[in-house]
Amino acid sequence: GERQPVSLSDLFNEIAFIINGTFPKNIQLHLQHSPGLNLVLGDPTQLHQVILNLCVNARDAMPTGGSLKITAENIQLHAPLIGAQPESPAGSYIVCQISDTGLGIQPELLDRIFEPFFSTKGPDRGTGLGLSTALGIIRSHGGFIRVESTPGQGSTFSIYLPEAPLSS
Ligand code: ADP
Ligand code: MG
Repeated sequence: GERQPVSLSDLFNEIAFIINGTFPKNIQLHLQHSPGLNLVLGDPTQLHQVILNLCVNARDAMPTGGSLKITAENIQLHAPLIGAQPESPAGSYIVCQISDTGLGIQPELLDRIFEPFFSTKGPDRGTGLGLSTALGIIRSHGGFIRVESTPGQGSTFSIYLPEAPLSS
């Protein structure tokens, strides 16, 4: 899609509006972005879709409620990150993290969750396309995704997007 400078803090406001209107009330939303957050060069509609998809997965992982935390900050990577998909070159990024206190992911499934049509949800609940679509969109923006999860404690999905070059 069309590339333009995107403010993740603007996207957060849109997403908070949707979550506040549609998610169960036993899910506590915590939003936090550092001041001076740099812009991302990207397609705002696609990035909105990715973040919302990860939030819906977090909601699904907390059937009895919990905490959903969404953060964004500037980060300088000096070396590749272990476990990033695809690779994670050094550089200046914005990292957006979506953390839940839900069911978590079994370690043996971590390699499979990005596969198209992989889902542990019922056929009426999940298509299994959310994460493969998210990864495709983030890759097309020159970024990558990393997952950390502890079964029974929760999961954190980290989306790294290259900082938009300063226009002159
Ligand atoms: P779907 O949500 O339709 O099942 P996704 O591609 O979005 O498909 O996710 C694939 C699978 O990854 C899910 O079925 C689930 O098993 C696992 N998963 C994704 N996000 C989370 C999460 N936040 N907590 C626990 N499991 C998750
Ligand atoms: Mg999903």
